[in-house]
Amino acid sequence: MIAAMPDLESARTVVTAGPQPEPLLSELSHAGAPGYRLPTLDVPEADSLDAVLLREDLPLPEIGELDVVRHYTHLAQRNVCIDSVFYPLGSCTMKYNPRVNEDVARLPGIAHVHPLQPDETVQGALELLYRLQQALTEITGFESATLQPAAGAQGELAGMLMIRAYHVDRGDARRKKVLVPDSAHGTNPATAAMCGYYTVAIPTDAHGEVDLDRLRAECDDTVAGMMLTNPNTLGLFERHLQEVTSIVHAAGGLVYGDGANLNAILGVVKPAEMGFDCLHINVHKTFSTPHGAGGPGAGPVVVSELLEPYLPTPLVVQGDDGSFALVHHRPKSIGRLKGFQGHFGILARAYTYIRMHGEDGLRQVSQTAVLNANYLRACLADLYDLAYDRTCMHELVISGRRLREQHGVRTLDVAKRLIDYGIHPPTIYFPLNVEEALMIEPTETESKATLDRFVRVMRRIAEEAADDPELLRAAPHLQPVGRLDEVTAARKPILRWGAAGSEE
Ligand SMILES: *Cc1c(COP(=O)(O)O)cnc(C)c1O
Repeated sequence: MIAAMPDLESARTVVTAGPQPEPLLSELSHAGAPGYRLPTLDVPEADSLDAVLLREDLPLPEIGELDVVRHYTHLAQRNVCIDSVFYPLGSCTMKYNPRVNEDVARLPGIAHVHPLQPDETVQGALELLYRLQQALTEITGFESATLQPAAGAQGELAGMLMIRAYHVDRGDARRKKVLVPDSAHGTNPATAAMCGYYTVAIPTDAHGEVDLDRLRAECDDTVAGMMLTNPNTLGLFERHLQEVTSIVHAAGGLVYGDGANLNAILGVVKPAEMGFDCLHINVHKTFSTPHGAGGPGAGPVVVSELLEPYLPTPLVVQGDDGSFALVHHRPKSIGRLKGFQGHFGILARAYTYIRMHGEDGLRQVSQTAVLNANYLRACLADLYDLAYDRTCMHELVISGRRLREQHGVRTLDVAKRLIDYGIHPPTIYFPLNVEEALMIEPTETESKATLDRFVRVMRRIAEEAADDPELLRAAPHLQPVGRLDEVTAARKPILRWGAAGSEE
């Protein structure tokens, strides 16, 4: 059954389709109802394990197979995801994940390969990794790549560890300061701190870009580098980027590029040409692999010649005879960051996406992503304040300031009300330098009809804010749960069977 999205008129009365879910905290297990049957043993029985490895008591849920299926099906139906709703989550690039990626990732030669197999038995898998390294360096203009990091944040760690290794290698130990724009993603300063640096925030100027005077004032011989996102997290292109990178380079620092926002510039501009020394790529965002709720993703890092000696190991290389091998020993490497060869299944999906699109296709992805964001900007500008009134890139940042001032309705309330209309809320209260921020990234995979519906809903919500602000403050009204206690949910998550009981 294809459930129609609730339309504007019926959003107050619609009830979620299908069977109502179980109350959240009830346990379904019943003693004496085991739901499993072990297969007969088809290998020799092993000697019994050492007693220290065994538990006296192993409480497991007891529940029939059908009830297990229903339990997980209900949970899946409650999941709000890109496959069920429009999901304009700024900075996260929730685009459609083409199913051909899944077909490729499930090929036996990819899904069943063992990470400890000798290189000569996994030439195809190594070739895929090698070609992906090449594709990513080609797209970004850099020299070489590592595919190992498990996500964007770990890519940042890899990149900043390489920058640190570069300074240490040159005997330049004074450099302890990393510059980060005040609009940056929180992972940037966190990464710098994990590498032993302290950070200095560089303010944003009146055009939404790095304040060049403040940057110059902070650039001295203690600067290890700068971490920069372009397009930045306001969805704007830093027009003076080459000047920014030259100022940092002139002070002896290196420039780290946060490439999570690559969706705006594929095939249009290469980050290496803007002056970055290295860059991480969120393949799970830009190159469409399923993500959210913590993974799995992959955060390859591409680097210039300067940083190449410090790349993590192992690296995939091609020998003179055309065969592929993993290189484990490189004297200046920052070492291993992740088990085996990183998230191979995700990398296979990203490679498929890149090859399916080709150069022209990738350029079209970015052009359409930018067009869609600017379409929304033009349609919403009269009702929601634009953080900066400029052509945006792949996402736009608007402010709900006016709704708060006029009706006491906050951006959080707008976001919660969107859920009632069957839309995943955009990113809210980020970037931190925009009051009541809504950061909207429509992506290139949405139709004009979907964008138009989003605009109608946003306009309707602004009307509701004027007519009935309480309706928004108590939203969502149509979900299995309403306003959650998000602090307790984050601090005391109940994620497994039996955990609720043990909390009491
Ligand atoms: C998503 C994102 C990150 C972090 O990437 P993860 O894969 O979530 O670790 C870093 N910077 C920006 C701008 C991002 O959007």
